[in-house]
Amino acid sequence: MYGGRWQAARSGRTMASFNPVDGSLLATLPDGDGTDTALAVDAAQAAFEGWSQTTALTRARALDRIAQSVEAARGRLARMITQEMGKPLAESEAEVTVTVDFFAWYAEEARRAYGAWIPDPLPDRRLLTMRGPVGVCGAIIPWNVPLSMIARKVAPALAAGCTTVLKPAEQTPAVAALFAEALLEADVPPGVFNFVTGQPAPIGAALLGDPRVRKISFTGSTEIGRLLLRGAADHIKRTSMELGGNGAVVVFEDADLDLAVRLTGSLKFRCAGQTCVSANRIFVHERLHDAFVERLAAYAGDLVVGDGLDPTVQMGPLVEAEAVQRLEGLVADALAQGADLRAGGGRLAGGAHAAGHFFAPTVLSGVTPGMRVAGEEIFGPVAPVYRFATDAEAIARANAVPFGLAAYVFTQNLGRAIRAAETLETGLVGVNDIRISSVEAPFGGVKQSGLGREGGREGLDEYLETKLVALGLH
Ligand code: NAP
Repeated sequence: MYGGRWQAARSGRTMASFNPVDGSLLATLPDGDGTDTALAVDAAQAAFEGWSQTTALTRARALDRIAQSVEAARGRLARMITQEMGKPLAESEAEVTVTVDFFAWYAEEARRAYGAWIPDPLPDRRLLTMRGPVGVCGAIIPWNVPLSMIARKVAPALAAGCTTVLKPAEQTPAVAALFAEALLEADVPPGVFNFVTGQPAPIGAALLGDPRVRKISFTGSTEIGRLLLRGAADHIKRTSMELGGNGAVVVFEDADLDLAVRLTGSLKFRCAGQTCVSANRIFVHERLHDAFVERLAAYAGDLVVGDGLDPTVQMGPLVEAEAVQRLEGLVADALAQGADLRAGGGRLAGGAHAAGHFFAPTVLSGVTPGMRVAGEEIFGPVAPVYRFATDAEAIARANAVPFGLAAYVFTQNLGRAIRAAETLETGLVGVNDIRISSVEAPFGGVKQSGLGREGGREGLDEYLETKLVALGLH
């Protein structure tokens, strides 16, 4: 969809999305490439002239209408998220809520893109800054949070006066199409939001190679982020990069054990472990280790796994068959090297699970640094638990990875919590809490987990340029 109209791919090709529960066909969309992307950029550039000149109030009202329109489509959107990528309906509903919140919040923030009047050392000059939109922005998103990920990028971009070309993931194009439908109903001028489904490499190359696209906002793997950063260098494009994580949970010796188990379990198995902020490495003080492992294994064993449309289901399938195979490989490697299997351990294949990509909630203890599961982003429902003896050791091990997105600590000692928050090398730290994402607050990583922030005031800054005006008083 670009220029306010549904468009076929110029090649005539189509692509399909399938339900990971049973492989059934869900939707057929255009299989776009570089030609289609260039046409979408034409539409975004044409719309930029007008949209960037609208008042902040006009844009705020448009964002409010988008929020209302998404709210009106809540049922359809939530269902399609669950059907395309598998998460339980309650998690999809929560994603719709976050999307509505993002548009509503940036509707307010659109009106606060203030400049400044700077005290000038020269008596016959005045310095002021004004802030304006970056320009046409390309947005590339993954499948695991297919709706609110659109909002995290498109809401601040539109609020700032930018126009956008979105490329959704190949597994979740129909969610993006439903969002586009909602946006059209919100009476946003044609070309302000455009999206192209299809082949990642040519679409990415077209966005990177077009000098009219002034910014690329990407969420996905560090590997593809690196590739896009290199490509963005040619035209010195601005970038925002929300990349891979390798999240640590540290359960200190004075932690509330019940709370630590419940929240770690929820964090680990939400979205079947397929989130960037998931618990990838769980460090537990030796005093609590055995009890923690036992309780986490019980938590995992109790989870109901199945079709996310069933309201009793707590964990859905993985997004695709390759993900199941990858996890089987990780678990087999860990067990071969001496890890202990405490829950789950492999694919679920019988009965209602027969036709889907289901993997049992899995807990491993006795994990050592040489195992693949200790070094890779797991991106699935496998929880490796490690034992530690001292605070310094736990923090050092948590930091000993090239990633730095999210970390979580459980302790009842305020000093310990503050020291951990100060020394963990991540953009996000949860203290006795796992709710580290909120529209009002900046979200993002350090090290190889990314550049820039989404959400909060900082999220709007990503789409604004600052211009200095020097006024001579002659
Ligand atoms: P991915 O393979 O990097 O894909 C993400 C997006 O990039 C998809 O739309 C994909 O398109 C597109 N893409 C792939 N190759 C491209 C290319 N050459 N040029 C332009 N676009 C290209 O990531 P994923 O495996 O789907 O998602 C999981 C990763 O995302 C994990 O590492 C996770 O930690 C990370 N993630 C990070 C955050 C965060 O906020 N930091 C949030 C969620 C996920 P196709 O789908 O068509 O291949």
